[in-house]
Amino acid sequence: MKRIWIMLAAVLLITTPVAAQSPTTPYPGPARIIGSDSAGCIAGAVRLPDTAPGMQTIRVSRSTFWGHPTVIAALQDLARRAQAAGLPDLYMNDISLPRGGPLVGIHASHQRGVDADVWLDVAGPHPVLPIAQRETITPHTLVRPDGRGVDMTIWRPEHITLIRLAATEPGIDRVLVNPAIKQQLCTQVTGERSWLRRVRPWYGHATHMHLHFKCPAGQTECIDQPPPPEGDGCDASLAWWFEQRDKPAAKTSEAAPKPKPIVLPAACRAIMAAP
Ligand SMILES: [Zn+2]
Repeated sequence: MKRIWIMLAAVLLITTPVAAQSPTTPYPGPARIIGSDSAGCIAGAVRLPDTAPGMQTIRVSRSTFWGHPTVIAALQDLARRAQAAGLPDLYMNDISLPRGGPLVGIHASHQRGVDADVWLDVAGPHPVLPIAQRETITPHTLVRPDGRGVDMTIWRPEHITLIRLAATEPGIDRVLVNPAIKQQLCTQVTGERSWLRRVRPWYGHATHMHLHFKCPAGQTECIDQPPPPEGDGCDASLAWWFEQRDKPAAKTSEAAPKPKPIVLPAACRAIMAAP
C-alpha cells in the first residue's frame, strides 16, 4: 500500500507540479481577491463549467479554471455574445488555481481569478467535444514566422469580431495579443475604434488572447493596474515591439523576460495554508 502511495505521489509530482503544492479546493466563503497581478490569491473562487452555451474548456487535465464569480459570469456572457455573433464555441484555457497564487513556470499573472486565456480559433464549427478529446486539439498560430505580421492564410474577419467582443465585455480592462495581431487590427479596423485602446501587444499570444479584468467592485484588497494609456495604441508604443526585433541580438516577442521570485501577501499565505 505504501509503495502505491509513493508511486501515486511521484506521478502527481510529474504531471501536476503546480497543483501538487496548492490546495485543490477553493477557500470557502465570500469572494475575496488579495494582492496584485504579480503576487496575489483569491478566496471564494468558482469554477467555469466545462461546457456552457458558446464555450468549452480545453486541456482540462493541464489547466485550471477557477475565478472570481463576476469574472466567471463575464466569460460566460462573452461566450453567449460570441455565439450570437455567429462564432463557433470559444475554447477556454487557463484562468487560476482554486485559491489562486502563482502558476509556476506557466504564467506570471493568472494569480487572482481575474485573468483568462481564450484561444483565437474561429474556424468552426466546434461541436461539443468529450473532455478526453479536448486534450489533443492544438491551436494555430496567427503570426508569421518572422513575427512581422499575421498569417493571412489563417487570419479571418471573425478574429476581429472575437477580439472586439472581448475588448467590449464589461469588466475587462486589457486584452493581450501578439504585436503582429495588434498591428493587423490597427490596419484593418474601421469605424468605431475606441475598443482598440484595451487591446495591448505582449510577448507570445499568437494562438490565444489573454483577458485581464479590473478588480471587481468591493474588492478593497485587490490592486488594479493603471488603465491603459489614452488612444488606440496604434502608435509608437506598438512600433517599439517591432523595433526590438530589428536590434541585433534582440529579444523576439516569443518569450517574456524571466519573472522575479514571487512573495505572496501574508493574507494569501494564510489562505493557501488553510485546510
Ligand atoms: Zn494568460
